[in-house]
Amino acid sequence: MSDARWEAVIGIEIHAQLLTRTKMFCGCALSFGDDPNVHTCPVCLAHPGALPVTNREAVRLAIVAGHALGCEIAERSVFSRKNYFYPDLPKAYQISQYDEPVCLGGTFRYLTEDGERTVGITRAHLEEDAAKLIHTGGDGRRAGAESSVVDFNRGGTPLLEIVTEPDLRSGAEAAAFLKQLRQTLVQLGVTDGNMEQGSMRADANISVRPAGREAFGTKTELKNMNSFTFLERGITAEIARQIAVLEDGGTITQETLHYEPTPGEITSLRSKEEAHDYRYFPEPDLVPVVPDRAWVEEIRASLPELPIDRRERWMRDLGLTFEDAEVLSETAELAGYFEAVAAVAPPKSAANWVRGELRAQLRERGEEPWESEVTPAALGEIIAMAEAREISMPNAKAVLAEVVATGAAPREVVEAKGLGAISDETELIAIVDRLLAENAAQAQQLRDGRDKVVGFFVGQAMRATQGRADPARVGELVRERALGG
Ligand SMILES: [Zn+2]
Repeated sequence: MSDARWEAVIGIEIHAQLLTRTKMFCGCALSFGDDPNVHTCPVCLAHPGALPVTNREAVRLAIVAGHALGCEIAERSVFSRKNYFYPDLPKAYQISQYDEPVCLGGTFRYLTEDGERTVGITRAHLEEDAAKLIHTGGDGRRAGAESSVVDFNRGGTPLLEIVTEPDLRSGAEAAAFLKQLRQTLVQLGVTDGNMEQGSMRADANISVRPAGREAFGTKTELKNMNSFTFLERGITAEIARQIAVLEDGGTITQETLHYEPTPGEITSLRSKEEAHDYRYFPEPDLVPVVPDRAWVEEIRASLPELPIDRRERWMRDLGLTFEDAEVLSETAELAGYFEAVAAVAPPKSAANWVRGELRAQLRERGEEPWESEVTPAALGEIIAMAEAREISMPNAKAVLAEVVATGAAPREVVEAKGLGAISDETELIAIVDRLLAENAAQAQQLRDGRDKVVGFFVGQAMRATQGRADPARVGELVRERALGG
């Protein structure tokens, strides 16, 4: 925060689209990018008399998420009707959960460079998404459009809404939290977390108060943040706006705001509704969700190691830095690949190779490590040869390039191409002496104190040996032989 006299108070509401095959209350397929209105039926089009049925897989994914968020899984939760009229909502109510949600009262742990932090989770509940309005004419937004049409493919998509306690204090903190929450949900298969396609969306409740005061200020709700960058910038801009209003002697109005990333502006959408405006009441067409306790426990027992636990273990047991652990745990596949390399090579070297040279070489081919020709065992072998100085670092990279291209065994590549390091010191000395004699001018510069010229000789020696010399040792020998050291 820019101003020590004020403290920001931020809570986040996350809508995550669940990775089910079908919609929340009917058998229509979920899809993105298909022709409009091809995945519809009487239930999701709200034909009179059509009855919804709860998607069991959506309930299972909500329980998975609930466990990961440290929530209590309710013995009984109830669907309610949230009544409002909008063209993307044909029933004129959304089936959601109100006072009896599926997950209650958890704590999400996330990592920053300064250590572990926590955010309280108020609740997580199941609901259905609205359909999608498409505005034609103008620039695609409602304002200035000539007409609007509705695509009902998205209508009825299962969502998990996660509501946090107001525990966050800055835009950067909110972005770090959301990034790791997304990572956790994606790695558990709860959602694909695609923010650009809208399968994960975040709104922020923001207020400011004088530093040291307990009572909350009036909050605003900031919508439309479909990336971590926008979330951070939007929150930062709204905090600054509220502080400016208050310092001018003004008051904050409770309202819903829209963050427009391009000019970085905040505009008002509408004054904020209160819960009673929606006239919630229990959905009479659905039975309560009463998950079998053995099933709930079975789901808990089958959860894999959470990303934060894996990162903390790597930092503690493998000596990885915060940044190494962050990069290598990005996806479950990358994490698994790294662990397999670290099982056969020193972990820190494994981290450097996977993050650095391997990904750089594979990027050109558009491949990921786990789908490439380079098995963890092969990479481990290359690392071991380089560390034992059986091959020079440049040649280790050349061996890797060959393995990337052909999948050949590293040791066979070294032998077939004659890439083994020159272990005979007299051979290296002879090469250095010859180079010093052939390049008398540079040798003189070296004797005159221009140490930079060593690099020239190392380059020449590497060329002369096809990369089989150890560059550091060549540098030492050049100084010794030229300066008589
Ligand atoms: Zn349907």
